[in-house]
Amino acid sequence: MSNLTLLTSDDYLPDRVSNILNGRKNNGNNVVTTLDINMQAAAYEALGDFRGAIIALDARTGAVLCMVSKPDFDPESIAESWDAINADPERGALVNRCTQGLYPPGSTFKIVTMLEYLKENSDEELKEFSFDCGGSFSKDGYTINCYHGRNHGIVDINTAFSESCNSAFAYMGTSFDRSGFKDTCEKLLFNRELPLKFPYNKSYVPIGPGSDTGEVMQTAIGQGKMQTTPMHMAMITQAIANGGVLMTPYIIDHIENSGGDVIKSFAPKEYGRIIEKEHADRLCELMEEVVRDGTATRLKSDSFTAAGKTGSAEYSSNKVMSHAWFTCFAPVQDPEVVVTVIAEEAGSGGQFAVPMAKSVLDAWF
Ligand SMILES: [Zn+2]
Repeated sequence: MSNLTLLTSDDYLPDRVSNILNGRKNNGNNVVTTLDINMQAAAYEALGDFRGAIIALDARTGAVLCMVSKPDFDPESIAESWDAINADPERGALVNRCTQGLYPPGSTFKIVTMLEYLKENSDEELKEFSFDCGGSFSKDGYTINCYHGRNHGIVDINTAFSESCNSAFAYMGTSFDRSGFKDTCEKLLFNRELPLKFPYNKSYVPIGPGSDTGEVMQTAIGQGKMQTTPMHMAMITQAIANGGVLMTPYIIDHIENSGGDVIKSFAPKEYGRIIEKEHADRLCELMEEVVRDGTATRLKSDSFTAAGKTGSAEYSSNKVMSHAWFTCFAPVQDPEVVVTVIAEEAGSGGQFAVPMAKSVLDAWF
């Protein structure tokens, strides 16, 4: 759409006629995006030499505030560098990792697992939840380990989430009604089309009534066969920040003619409620504790409050390497902005992705 818009002219009609009669080209329209130049620059800088993606959305409207994908290319010289870019498909410079990059979500998916746990358990049961983490959890011949073999000791529901205890979540997963877990995932648009007007890939989660214990344990911690895009994680985070209502992401604010007159404006559009209000509020509290006292304390700032969830998604068979994830919103009261980060092969989310998100939030506040 943007290319056509740029080639179309909506200048004053007599001027256009005069141009045509005199053999002059008409001035094309301008597309004005929703991008915030400061955040875009901060995100580009923060990602550094890592492959990966950083995306920010307006928490209230769904407007895309920044969208960085690396490796990238210079659009100014794309014609000259086209052959070189295509000669190196492994690098994937033409892939927009924000919307097309599929990754295991790792512990950022514990947001979804927790939502299912909130749905299936009463407030009393949540208060009484207690799990003794010895660094791993085994059932039916399957074992899930905590990240780097960490032993979390006795955790309640809040510390299981804020410390990102894999064993506690795998244990929670084994109690789930698997059809219910599938429904919750699909309500959040896993295995579904996303309401996006730009190229993207669908997220995939293998859970269903036929899933065995191993599959449900892997899914509960965001590992196994499942895959998601940074944009999708940003959308789920936006819905939580917005009381459970997802706004359709959009990147064009308005179109104007060469004289600056607005030809068309794009208003924010509500997709609909994907999380019940009470559950969204509870998830906000849990995500706040991650920043206050959990795996994302590097986000603490004097200029804003924030809530989020880290992830360290293991992708190698020896479980040594991980992609660093973080998804968050700020401020906690009346959220304005959502930031989602993935840095490929960086290491833990708390150590690598959280400081990147902080740079982007600093640019906003
Ligand atoms: Zn643990």
